[in-house]
Amino acid sequence: MVQSREPAVQGFLSEEDCIAYFYRMKWPDGFRCPRCEHSHAYTVNTRRLPLYECRFCRHQTSLTAGTAMEGSRTPLHKWAVAMQLVSQPASINAVQLAEQICVTYKTAWSMLRKIRQAISDNDAKQPLSGAVRAGPAFYGRTTRQPFVRHPQEHPVMVGAAFHLNGQPSYIKVKTVPMTHMDGKSILRSGEHDFVERHVEPETFDVRILKRFRLHEINLLPEVFKQAKKWINRTFHGIGAKYLQNYLDEFCFRCNQSYRDMPVMDVLSGICLASAPRPAVQ
Ligand SMILES: [Zn+2]
Repeated sequence: MVQSREPAVQGFLSEEDCIAYFYRMKWPDGFRCPRCEHSHAYTVNTRRLPLYECRFCRHQTSLTAGTAMEGSRTPLHKWAVAMQLVSQPASINAVQLAEQICVTYKTAWSMLRKIRQAISDNDAKQPLSGAVRAGPAFYGRTTRQPFVRHPQEHPVMVGAAFHLNGQPSYIKVKTVPMTHMDGKSILRSGEHDFVERHVEPETFDVRILKRFRLHEINLLPEVFKQAKKWINRTFHGIGAKYLQNYLDEFCFRCNQSYRDMPVMDVLSGICLASAPRPAVQ
């Protein structure tokens, strides 16, 4: 048997299928000029990716312009596979993705970094509202002493919004800056900071639990336990620098499980709507 060079890509979608897919996701109601909102364009097919030239103002745009994929030379079908894998409960790390879509480790790492950044940007636009419950937890190494924090033990606030029927509607796990810590305790200022940044301002039903009472809202310790398990299994533990992006990726999949929409479609929509970032080293 001939070994396939691109195991996940073969049998998935052709580049043409992916161009059509991302076009539908970017412009679900048909082409819309990003400069003048005109709805008709000429398609220029002389490049690797088609260019769309507005019939009114002549502005040229592409499927990746102004998105998380802007400037990438990686074909769209490889992006589609990456997004599809990130949409799965187990997700993927850069070593595995590099193997699956036949790109270098550096390219795979940068693709996953861009996808996660798009998820984090999207999460920032979704504050918790309704009945909000949150409390502290820790990721990483621990000391044996209950009040002493290990230098690699990272404090987080685990928060959830609930519907009136008690079902969760949205969760967030956010790292707490060290300025809000006193030993192993999150200061009041840290709780206020979480509410200010991640809870809808008009929300009046907000309860912040102390560490020893977190278990009173079953979902909170359970979600965090699953998040830690996933990070440790997939990435073999990580440091503080990217912890927030990994936590956001985990919460993204949890939050999609509360909705009835294909995760891949939501994720590609988020990546297409996210502004491009300069390359990260
Ligand atoms: Zn235009």
